[in-house]
Amino acid sequence: MSDINYWEPGNLIDAVSLLANMGDQVRALAGGTDLLVKMKKGPINWKGIVNLKGLTELKGFVFEGETITIGALTQISSLIENSLLGLHFPVLVDAARSLGTPQVRNLATIGGNLCNASPAADVALVLLMYEARLLITGPSGSRKVPVHEFYVGSGQTVLQLGEILTAIEIDLPPLNSKGVFYKHGKRKSHEIALVNVAVLLTPQPGTKQISRARIAVGAVASTQLRIKEAEDSLREVIATLGAFEKAAELTKEAVNPIDDVRSTASYRKQMVGVLTRRALVEAWGGEL
Ligand SMILES: Cc1cc2nc3c(=O)[nH]c(=O)nc-3n(C[C@H](O)[C@H](O)[C@H](O)COP(=O)(O)OP(=O)(O)OC[C@H]3O[C@@H](n4cnc5c(N)ncnc54)[C@H](O)[C@@H]3O)c2cc1C
Repeated sequence: MSDINYWEPGNLIDAVSLLANMGDQVRALAGGTDLLVKMKKGPINWKGIVNLKGLTELKGFVFEGETITIGALTQISSLIENSLLGLHFPVLVDAARSLGTPQVRNLATIGGNLCNASPAADVALVLLMYEARLLITGPSGSRKVPVHEFYVGSGQTVLQLGEILTAIEIDLPPLNSKGVFYKHGKRKSHEIALVNVAVLLTPQPGTKQISRARIAVGAVASTQLRIKEAEDSLREVIATLGAFEKAAELTKEAVNPIDDVRSTASYRKQMVGVLTRRALVEAWGGEL
């Protein structure tokens, strides 16, 4: 690794102006579990890093009304430890538990999982399913971006020069909703997903009718995907195995995976269908 410059700004304004003034020559550093791996592997085309660790205001949780706001620098391990998060967003906690090892989870941040824009990211997938909104601050002010509009390709986001992801907002899902997160890999733990799936079903209270479904899938296209066709196929229909099989088939048809060192495209396509069906059946929970 060649010599690089290093800054530790103490507040958001300084961090934004450093990143904006240095242009494409620098990168923001959060937990470093993706960035430092890239730097070690090389080659890299940037000459400095701006460590965000001094921006303590970007850490922690605020529960207000129907919305929770999570600071972008909040560690993955803190998501697991927060009992209110576990109560209202258990699927997010399941995804956090599946990420890496305890050592990685103590460093890795929720914001880094989003900004790294890996199609296989676990926590980011569940944020897509929960329809999170991302709060971004840059040289020209602040803006809010729905997570489904955040990615433009593998490893690429809509973040402009100097912009920092500051927080993630998520609305509470309807009370009777139930979600499931599945991650499929060669090992049971410490594994990057070959395919991951997050679903949320909201039943019509007291009936066997599905009011709404959300389906998000990862590692099967250049960005993580919401499968609208499959979601629409479940809207206001009676929950049956056949309905879930149809939604799983539509999910399989909608994805476009690649072959890589970890899996073949055809295996990923097959597994996304299998996991989606299983996740929907488990999320429904009741008799079919
Ligand atoms: C051994 C190991 C196992 C892993 N296992 C998993 C796994 O199972 N599942 C999984 O999803 N990931 C896994 N990862 C990847 C990684 O841990 C996560 O993606 C993590 O959440 C990244 O967060 P970070 O804070 O370390 O990001 P960093 O490495 O600090 O940053 C990642 C990228 O995001 C940018 N960035 C970070 N924060 C911000 C911000 N607030 N605003 C703007 N840009 C920002 C950085 O510039 C960089 O480009 C693993 C990594 C390792 C090393």
